[in-house]
Amino acid sequence: MDIDRRGFAVATGALLAMPFLTRLGSSPAAAQAAAPAPAGTAPAAAPNLATAQAPGFFRFKVGSHIVTVVNDGYGVRPNPTQGFVRNAEPAAVEAALKAAFLPTDALRLPYTVTFLQAGEKLIMFDAGTGGQLGATAGRMAANMQAAGLDPAKVTEVIITHFHGDHISGLTTADDKPVFANAEIIVPKAEWDFWTDEGNASRAADAMKPAFAAVKRRFEPYKGRTREISDGEVLPGVVALSTPGHTPGHTSYLLSDGSAQALVLGDITNRPELNLAHPNWHLVFDMDADLAEKTRREVLDRVATDRIRCIGYHFPFPANGYVAKEAEGYRFFPADWTPEV
Ligand SMILES: [Zn+2]
Repeated sequence: MDIDRRGFAVATGALLAMPFLTRLGSSPAAAQAAAPAPAGTAPAAAPNLATAQAPGFFRFKVGSHIVTVVNDGYGVRPNPTQGFVRNAEPAAVEAALKAAFLPTDALRLPYTVTFLQAGEKLIMFDAGTGGQLGATAGRMAANMQAAGLDPAKVTEVIITHFHGDHISGLTTADDKPVFANAEIIVPKAEWDFWTDEGNASRAADAMKPAFAAVKRRFEPYKGRTREISDGEVLPGVVALSTPGHTPGHTSYLLSDGSAQALVLGDITNRPELNLAHPNWHLVFDMDADLAEKTRREVLDRVATDRIRCIGYHFPFPANGYVAKEAEGYRFFPADWTPEV
C-alpha cells in the first residue's frame, strides 16, 4: 500500500483533532472529572500511566566472563550544530543528525559504565557521573542496584581517561569514596598529564576546573591507586593506549579464551557523528588529529576482527559491532538476547 505523503499529513491532522485522543492524553484525574462514575458504582482502577523506563542494564558474555553495561543517564549538548564539531559546517552536522533521526536542537550524550565479572572479580570501567553532572545524568547507582551490582563489592575501577563524565562518580559530592574496597587503576600517561603542576598552571581558564577535579576525585583513593601502561592489567583485561581524546586515553580489551570485547572509552563519541564521519573533530578531543588517527586505527581493527565494542557515549545498551563503509564506519547494535 502506498501512503501518499500529503494524504498522510492530512490524516494525521485529522487524528490529532479527534477528541478521544485528547482525552487519552489527559491525566486520569482529569478524565474522571470529565466523566464521573455513575452513582453507586466504584470508579474503575486508574490505568497505569507510569512513564518510567525499564532499568538500564544489559548483560552479555565474553567467554565465561559476564559483562554488564549500566546506563548512567545522559548529558545534553544544546545546539549541536554550532561549535560541537570543530571542522564541519553547521549544515553538514545538521544533515548527519537528521539522517540518524536525532534532534538538531539538543543532542543527548548517553553515559554507559561497563562492569566485568571475571571469577571473583567485579571490575568496573569508568565511574560515571555520580549524579553530580546535571539532572539527566546520575542513574548509575539505581541501575546498579537493579542489576544486583553492589558498589562495596567492586574490586577494581579501571579508568579510560580523566574527563569529568568518567571520574566524577568515584566520590560523593562531599568527597567520600564510593567504592570502599576497590583498587583504582589509571593509565600512567593520563595520570602524569593531569597531575603535572606545570600543565595545571598553563591550562586555559576553562580547563583549570578539570585539573582541580582530578585531584579531588582521586585524593580519597590515595594508597590504592595503581598506574598502568599497555599490556595485561588483570587476567582477561589488556590495556591499549588510544591517545588523542586525552593524552593518556586508554581502551581495554576484555577476553576469555578466544572471545573478546573492547571497551572503547571515548575514541569516538556518538556513532551517528563520529563513526559516520571519523574525520570530524568534536570539541572534547584534546589533540584532534591524534584522536582521528587513533579512531581510524581502532575502528579498522574492530571492523576487521569483528570485535564487539562498548562505547561510553553510544546509545544504550551501547554495545555492538562496527563495519567499514565507503566514507567511514557504521555501527550495528548487538542483538538483544533474553538470556545471558
Ligand atoms: Zn566522555
